[in-house]
Amino acid sequence: MLVVMRVGADNAEVEHVMDRIREFGNTPVLAAGTERVCIGMLGDERGINPDEILMMSGVDRVVPILAPYKLASRDFQPTDTIVQVGDQAIGGKDVVFMAGPCSVESRAQTMELAAMLHELGVRIFRGGAFKPRTSPYAFQGMGESGLQILADVREKYGMAIVTEVMGTEEVGLVAQYADMLQIGTRNMQNYRLLEAVGQQPKPVLLKRGMSSTLEELLLAAEYILSQGNRNVVVCERGIRTFERATRYTFDVNAIPMLKLLTHLPVVADPSHGTGRWDLVVPISRAAVAAGADGLIVEVHQRPEEALSDGAQSLRPDRCATLIEELRRVSRAIGRDVAQVPVAARG
Ligand code: PEP
Ligand code: MN
Repeated sequence: MLVVMRVGADNAEVEHVMDRIREFGNTPVLAAGTERVCIGMLGDERGINPDEILMMSGVDRVVPILAPYKLASRDFQPTDTIVQVGDQAIGGKDVVFMAGPCSVESRAQTMELAAMLHELGVRIFRGGAFKPRTSPYAFQGMGESGLQILADVREKYGMAIVTEVMGTEEVGLVAQYADMLQIGTRNMQNYRLLEAVGQQPKPVLLKRGMSSTLEELLLAAEYILSQGNRNVVVCERGIRTFERATRYTFDVNAIPMLKLLTHLPVVADPSHGTGRWDLVVPISRAAVAAGADGLIVEVHQRPEEALSDGAQSLRPDRCATLIEELRRVSRAIGRDVAQVPVAARG
């Protein structure tokens, strides 16, 4: 439920409503970005009598939030959330482009690729140091030494870093190095992990579980939001279907649907969504045309030598072409690819 206060309702009236919500055993939260004060209620609402709240001084309306997620819903917050990562605003007017290798494989590979992507104007660098691999015998990532390399990329090129955290015990460590923490598809419903990233201040990139519905994705986001971290970006990265021609099926419907359901920024991962480098460009175009606020793309200077996900990694020259194409698609829908700030050029 959302309590919409009258225009001009005073602090005492707002406090009084919040106290009453607490007496009902719920947690009141002030909703941001609306003309007047709105108070959301978190918790089990069955014991609450909306008529009683409606009669309280200063209350205009009591509106039900029909979705099972509250803080993540557009009913709770009609205006778009903008998540600031480094110098990029995800969820704002322009489309934010994030790129990097699937895995941090070595200092030389990572620094060389970072230099190339910096040249292309990329401002958010991705790369996994802790890798969730299907086989326990596959490359598992460099761990903390990989995080250190990512920190060096930020230091040298001023790019912000997004990297995956796989377990609750690693949240503090990864948060020391990263600008945005990635929760991978396999962990989207790891609720203790979601709570842990919700209790630290860095933004979170939450990838859709490969077999999850949009409602399950937004309930996973709700776990993070309800712990106090409001900087959550949700990511469509492909789902499991009967189709085997591609690694996953990129669900383009998810993008405009999520934009209707939630105020959180929505980004697309066409690399995992297709599993093929030669589909990354067309699916990126489709994602931006469908309203994605950003893209996260895997790039490798020698994809054939990559320790993970080489088949879906673009070479840097193709990444340059992709950015140009995205600029054209973005402009066709009244947006642009987010500009590199003047201070960061060079
Ligand atoms: C990744 O980003 O490299 C990754 C493992 O993604 P996902 O969790 O979507 O498979
Ligand atoms: Mn990958």
